[in-house]
Amino acid sequence: MPINANFRGIPSAYLFGEVNDRVRRYEAEHPDSKVLKLGVGDVTRPLAPAIIEALHKAVEEQAHAETFRGYGNEFGYDFLREAIAQGEYASIGVDVEASEVFIGDGAKTDMANAQELFTEQATVAVTDPVYPIYVDANALAGRIGTFENDRWNGLTYLDCTVENGFQAPLPKQPVEIIYLCSPNNPMGAVLTREELEEWVAYAKAHGAVILYDVAYRAFIQGDEIPRSIYEIEGADEVAIEFGSFSKTAGFTGLRCSWSVVPKKLVIDGVSLHDGWARRQATKYNGTPYIVQRAAEAVYSPEGREQIEQDIEYYRRNAKLLKEAVQNAGIEAVGGDHSPYIWFRCPGDMSSWEFFDLLLEDAQVVGTPGEGFGPAGAGYFRLSAFNSYEVTLEASKRLAEVFAKLTTREVSLER
Ligand SMILES: *Cc1c(COP(=O)(O)O)cnc(C)c1O
Repeated sequence: MPINANFRGIPSAYLFGEVNDRVRRYEAEHPDSKVLKLGVGDVTRPLAPAIIEALHKAVEEQAHAETFRGYGNEFGYDFLREAIAQGEYASIGVDVEASEVFIGDGAKTDMANAQELFTEQATVAVTDPVYPIYVDANALAGRIGTFENDRWNGLTYLDCTVENGFQAPLPKQPVEIIYLCSPNNPMGAVLTREELEEWVAYAKAHGAVILYDVAYRAFIQGDEIPRSIYEIEGADEVAIEFGSFSKTAGFTGLRCSWSVVPKKLVIDGVSLHDGWARRQATKYNGTPYIVQRAAEAVYSPEGREQIEQDIEYYRRNAKLLKEAVQNAGIEAVGGDHSPYIWFRCPGDMSSWEFFDLLLEDAQVVGTPGEGFGPAGAGYFRLSAFNSYEVTLEASKRLAEVFAKLTTREVSLER
């Protein structure tokens, strides 16, 4: 059968499967243990009351012929595109038209699909460590060569290390598609205005397009860190931005996202806005009406307030975890503008050695850094997505483990 050979060349996405296997094995052997899971990047708070109310109302509409809705616009209902243009962009002084906003069913989907806008020959850069979807979507499209020695030989990796503050350095050789994420997963690091300006200038100079992931933008505090790439002058000529209600408003199960493709984004005389519209109209039939109504409620006064409380709840968890790590003399990044804490495993342990030790000695589960790419080897991620009580207990157990382990400072440097 002439099946897509790219499916054969791709390594299995084993990270979370392996984490779950090890936890399940441990729990089976220790049935009385209480394992605290700070590994997964999934929210735990229930949907805010304003969202639930909007859902109920929309469901009721679907029950009556006069208010029933069938197929909607593939790009999303105007009420939500408008709410996003206002609530995410006008609110921070950025001009985005509602018609430049496309509603999707997740930033993962949208970012995995966006590469279809480019040729198979287009060159791609990602950070290392990285959210794996950017890489795998291009691998399945046959764009990044073959996988050998833990890396794709046709992909440009931008190593995020302690030296560059875990921020992507500009590529040494020219690239055409650049995936950036701020605040990023897994490291929780953010791009400053100056850094983002350099990226926009780079894209302009090299005719590159930036695919910018702002799934964690709601975690940004203060006014220094840009919440959108369009805060940078000229970014609307070089960047597509992807937002999600998943981490912001607890929509990981409900599913809703947006992409912004500015009308000014024209490459070689081709409008990427028109291209994306064509792609979505062909391959997508729209996010469910009731879900779009739920997303709209995120921007109501009550919705905003309730969602800010949930974000604040996770921030408090992040602070607890970061303090537990830092109080043990272990340097850490993340946590301030993101729900993730990133640090080097004490005692020069590998990510998986530390994972096992933490599971066995403290019954705490985190995520091995090397699961996000070779540059993550020796590092570890903790997630603030949990209840305060679990996080508090986990931070106590972490402190005990660290006290036994570390007699000297652990820097982020490898
Ligand atoms: C969780 C996450 C997303 C959001 O994905 P959805 O499909 O919207 O749930 C996007 N990017 C990154 C880096 C993430 O961690």
